[in-house]
Amino acid sequence: MSKRATALARRLLAGLSFGVLMAAGAAQADTVLVTADHLVDVLAGKVVDRPAVLIVDGRITAVGAQGTVTAPADARTVALPGLTLLPGLIDMHTHMTSQPTWNGYESLGVTTADKAIAGVANAKVTLMAGFTAVRNVGADAFTDVALRNAIDSGLVPGPRMKVSGPLLGATGGHCDENLLPADYGRVGEGVADSPWGMVQKVRWVKKFGADLVKVCATGGVLSKGDSPGAQQLSQEELDAIAKEAHALGMKVAAHAHGTDGIKAAIRAGIDTIEHASLIDDEGIEMAKKRGTWLGMDIYNDDYILAEGAKVGMLPESLEKERKIGRVQRENFAKAVKAGAKMIYSTDAGVYPHGDNGKQFAKMVQWGMTPLEAIRAATRNAAEAMGTDKDIGAVAVGRYGDLVAVKGDPLADVTLLEHIPVVIKGGDVVKDQR
Ligand SMILES: [Zn+2]
Repeated sequence: MSKRATALARRLLAGLSFGVLMAAGAAQADTVLVTADHLVDVLAGKVVDRPAVLIVDGRITAVGAQGTVTAPADARTVALPGLTLLPGLIDMHTHMTSQPTWNGYESLGVTTADKAIAGVANAKVTLMAGFTAVRNVGADAFTDVALRNAIDSGLVPGPRMKVSGPLLGATGGHCDENLLPADYGRVGEGVADSPWGMVQKVRWVKKFGADLVKVCATGGVLSKGDSPGAQQLSQEELDAIAKEAHALGMKVAAHAHGTDGIKAAIRAGIDTIEHASLIDDEGIEMAKKRGTWLGMDIYNDDYILAEGAKVGMLPESLEKERKIGRVQRENFAKAVKAGAKMIYSTDAGVYPHGDNGKQFAKMVQWGMTPLEAIRAATRNAAEAMGTDKDIGAVAVGRYGDLVAVKGDPLADVTLLEHIPVVIKGGDVVKDQR
């Protein structure tokens, strides 16, 4: 039962003891009626005119044309004339407890406390940008679990979060600590080198509050001494991770740039492939056949190449990005054309938090329709996380998470870079019309 539902049950029980069950329940329900000029219905794939959305205790109870949805007299009303409503946006690849300036050897001076505090600030920035839910894929010391819990309890503002805790990976791989020589003995928290070692790590992140598992199947751009194209976990290790995570009810996200690592991760039954930079035609076909989601961070390249040197990224990282950035975009276009299942993954934290919306225009430039790009960040994202009963569309039963923009986002997707109105669970958390 959700916290809200528990609170409601408690109120109903309190009402019972005074013999005024219905009155207490009805009087204390928080009801909001939101109206606007248009609504992007991501499930039906069309725009609805003059919509009204009724939200009771945080969840949507009715959606229809204005005049057909009736609200009780004490309902709050949020009228947004001239605006278009969309579901709250979802970024499937964020690092809320990371900063874009924490690169190379500078990053060694960053403490767990620094990361936790940055997470609080970044959560607010992300919510204000219109992203009412995120998946956090990789955080040291379970700082993402603490942040998720603080947001859920109302202690700090932020998006709804699904979190992975520490990254799992191989010794010397993208998810290990590779900056210092052996004398210092630094090892990434999620490092293991056998199927059973990986099973233990999956159980370990579950034990300490992770919702999902993040693994590094290939090398990366920002890690020292490895190659993005090289596979870093064996098929046996990836199989063991996916099997154990799924048995525990967790989804798995795999960082995978390289062609072979992408295929090994798909074969293992991993749910989402992050980056997918060097995916080939066979990999795209495999993903389609298995129903594997691709989360390709195609905005990030612009930021890394323009700002990377200034924010202390290692020269070898910039060199790696120059080799794969453009290829990733070309492969994104191929995957879209082939009809692969796509989600909105940006790698926020590598670039500044709050700029999450800048990827929409890139996705349209590289072959998606605006509706497809918006679906990647709403309907598809929710489905890939297994949270499509709760988020991802303006539909009955889901949370009242909405954003509103002036103009038509299906004509100009860059409107989603500066979202003036954000509503989370029926609460207007931003109104800068
Ligand atoms: Zn990442």
